[in-house]
Amino acid sequence: MDVPFLSLKDVTQQHAAEIHEAVNRVVDSGWYLQGKENSAFEAAYASYIGTRHAIGVANGLDALELIFRAYIEMDIMAPGDEVIVPANTYIASILAITANGLVPVLVEPSIETYQMDDSLIEAHITPRTKAIMIVHLYGQCAYTEHVEDLCRNHGLRLIEDNAQAHGCIFQGRRTGSLGEIAGHSFYPGKNLGAFGDAGAVTTSNQALAEMVRMLANYGSKKKYVFERLGRNSRLDEIQAAVLAVKLKYLDADIDLRRSVARSYLDRIDNNLITLPQVLDWKAHVFHIFPVRCARRDDLQKYLENKGIHTLIHYPVPPHKQECYKEWNSINLPITERIHSEVLSLPMSPVLTADQVEFVIKSVNSYG
Ligand SMILES: *Cc1c(COP(=O)(O)O)cnc(C)c1O
Repeated sequence: MDVPFLSLKDVTQQHAAEIHEAVNRVVDSGWYLQGKENSAFEAAYASYIGTRHAIGVANGLDALELIFRAYIEMDIMAPGDEVIVPANTYIASILAITANGLVPVLVEPSIETYQMDDSLIEAHITPRTKAIMIVHLYGQCAYTEHVEDLCRNHGLRLIEDNAQAHGCIFQGRRTGSLGEIAGHSFYPGKNLGAFGDAGAVTTSNQALAEMVRMLANYGSKKKYVFERLGRNSRLDEIQAAVLAVKLKYLDADIDLRRSVARSYLDRIDNNLITLPQVLDWKAHVFHIFPVRCARRDDLQKYLENKGIHTLIHYPVPPHKQECYKEWNSINLPITERIHSEVLSLPMSPVLTADQVEFVIKSVNSYG
């Protein structure tokens, strides 16, 4: 049996007619940027997340970069200031910080949840610390009341990287509305994915929203008047139209992911393999279903030979990458252990019961 990690073709097929109609509507309209589709998607997404504003941008990295740029333009942050961030995040979270001349302060995750260990944060706060960026990695909420308290007590901004967790709910509120501002990615493989690159920023802070929107549009609010050194990071009308269709089905898709996760968690039983810990089912949208195994590469090969395609999120942590040579000698043992042991099983709303069954049986027979 062949079990793809994620069949985007099947994901699209679920709503193909509606998506084709949306794409054709844009093609026929003759209007391809900053039009009705953008406004409609932004309104729908802000209402879904529970913020006053959503700003469509070109991709998730831009969303995060624009957030820090906005704080700098508003004199809330300055180059050299520090941002606390989990050490085991995807590199985009870190790039957004360093691209703005800010300094990432890497904090180890918990080996149980893979989220930043909030008991370690306070020791990393210095007079230059301006923000904590939480990352809802793998689709599990990283927000805690302790992080909120730290931000309040130390006067720090709480920023969310919500690239992997659209739809995630913490005590009735969606991730992306828990901090002051959040970056979202609609990369095709994300839970809410476009047909190419796309992203968004959400916030209920009007001044920040206006600044991000202006910076993403050449630093301009009024045509040919440039107030700030901006850039071009806009969401295409075609992508906005596709995303508006897919947003309607996001919660149903997440439920399908949860039922796959439920089967994996209930029925994978192999003492060589550590299953992920779920703190609260509403607060996990299972973008990734990571298991850990000391012989990870061997397990991956074993599953591949059976036709089960897995991925590694991620094989090398940011501080061990060549682009961040200056940190290569830093010791972050939990982060490094996660990167050497973690393996992502097939996970999507379109896996069949037979495929899930086959993955469980195969993982159980490993060893
Ligand atoms: C995907 C991702 C991003 C970046 O999104 P792009 O749209 O690919 O630029 C940022 N942070 C995290 C945690 C991600 O997974």
